[in-house]
Amino acid sequence: MKPTVSASQCTVYTVNLDETAEQRFWDHTKKGGSSECWEWIGSRNARGYGRLLVSNRPELAHRVSFLLAFGWLPTCTMHKCDNPPCVNPSHLFGGTHADNAADMSRKGRAPRRGPTLAVRSTILALRELGMTCYQIGHQVGLSHATVARELKRADPISEWQPL
Ligand SMILES: [Zn+2]
Repeated sequence: MKPTVSASQCTVYTVNLDETAEQRFWDHTKKGGSSECWEWIGSRNARGYGRLLVSNRPELAHRVSFLLAFGWLPTCTMHKCDNPPCVNPSHLFGGTHADNAADMSRKGRAPRRGPTLAVRSTILALRELGMTCYQIGHQVGLSHATVARELKRADPISEWQPL
């Protein structure tokens, strides 16, 4: 059974992977080092995002990549590297449509302190999947201490409630 996410800001969007989807995904991915961009060498849409047919429906390649790597899909799957054809899952993060708009409008501006709203909602979603701070940090590119601080900030009550 696939894990589901019920964090308030993330709705589950399911892509039903067909039997050949994973193989076709890798057939069209130029896999590089873990920190490099992995270029999609299959067809692309007008905005440069890779695409492939999954269960006879057109899907974005980077979303399929996220699903294959992490086992769930956020509402929006965004690029940390701003490189549309990149399908390296470590360059992807999840968020909502509102996060996506905020992320786009922030591009080119001075970096703000702390993780973006999109990253914060991803941290909460992954926490609900039962991941540790180390695992979450690895996935979103932050230290486990930063992840722990964000979780504390999101849920201050758990700090003082005896359990
Ligand atoms: Zn990339």
